[in-house]
Amino acid sequence: MELTGLQIFKYLPGAKKAEGTNCKKCGCPTCMAYALKLAKKQIGIEKCPHIPDELKEKFSEASKIQQYEIKLSNELVTGGETVMFRHDKTFVNKTVIAIHLDSDDADFDTKLEKIKNYHIERIGETFKVDAIYLTGTNKDLARKKIQNENIAVIPDDSLYSIAKGNNIEELEQESKRLLEQGQKSIILELAYDNKSTAEIAEQLTYIRRAAIIKRYEPLTYPVMVKLPQNMDNLQACAVASLLVCRYANIVVLNDFNEALLTTLFTLRQNIYTNPQKPLQVEAKIYEFNEPDRNAPVLLTTNFALTYFAVAGELESLPCGSYLVVTPSDGMSVLTAWSADKFTADLVAKSVKDFELAKKVDTRSIIIPGLLSHMKDELQEAMPEWNIVTGTIEACQIPEFLKSRESL
Ligand code: SF4
Repeated sequence: MELTGLQIFKYLPGAKKAEGTNCKKCGCPTCMAYALKLAKKQIGIEKCPHIPDELKEKFSEASKIQQYEIKLSNELVTGGETVMFRHDKTFVNKTVIAIHLDSDDADFDTKLEKIKNYHIERIGETFKVDAIYLTGTNKDLARKKIQNENIAVIPDDSLYSIAKGNNIEELEQESKRLLEQGQKSIILELAYDNKSTAEIAEQLTYIRRAAIIKRYEPLTYPVMVKLPQNMDNLQACAVASLLVCRYANIVVLNDFNEALLTTLFTLRQNIYTNPQKPLQVEAKIYEFNEPDRNAPVLLTTNFALTYFAVAGELESLPCGSYLVVTPSDGMSVLTAWSADKFTADLVAKSVKDFELAKKVDTRSIIIPGLLSHMKDELQEAMPEWNIVTGTIEACQIPEFLKSRESL
């Protein structure tokens, strides 16, 4: 468990008014300032000559790896997690989504082609299948074909060893055996077999807790789970979603299925964004379909999800348009408004700074329907513009603009 500044401070002379209090030998003005820096790893523990052994022990415990990061290919790593829950800090490496391919399968090339051609784009990111879980007797040739496509192949003896087990005890034993052989790059492969979904979730949670909280070395490695063969698509989707959330580092699917992959990538993207840094786009004026000077002007915040929802609709229109995106710390429209990141003054300033008036002859700005209560306030802050209340949902924009055209 990482120590906070206050927890560290309790061990320092400053908290006990003991000898050395605020002596500055560490280079900090006070013991509290040192404690806060130490908690953020901005200074070394050796800088203070008064650190008690108990705190040194706690630090040594806290500096143990929680989960090793394992390289699956030159571009792909897995593991490296440091928290149990995303909101505690952030998750680090996205769950690897792999598909099982049998190198002896007569349809191998066709299946690989489908996997290779699949990708989706969502909120500015592109997703594709991360890895192939390769079995069969023709692996060498198959491996070459896959690697040409820049997709990782699992397993890969040159990069890591796999500790297989039907349960936690077996995984632990196998991992210990590999550790005794001096191997440090390990992936734990937990067999699904006849376990219920609840059992697999319980075992994965146990393993993640043993790694993150207890820092128990045999289990401080990424975990891979392969879905059983007998699941239909809906079951596979439900179970794989659970595994992405808790706590498989690698999920192996049995078949290529676009709907399933799209669902998992969407879920994974939501879980693996940093909660302290909302996905955001640059605040500026965006242009769609070569707008002329009379094209409609819409306004929204720089929260990526909002931007891409609105941008998608504007791109699909037969006419051009402008979208003014205000700097709102990546917050959605209502959140930004409630946090004072979307005020009339800020919007007026953005419109002025971006020199919107020089780009268009129209003097109307369409604001999000969710902010209809701000219309008068915005009108007052931007008297030269006509403020129009737009739609609540992005998908209503085309219809809304069409109805304005016919006015
Ligand atoms: Fe406090 Fe240690 Fe820094 Fe002195 S050296 S100010 S005792 S933290």
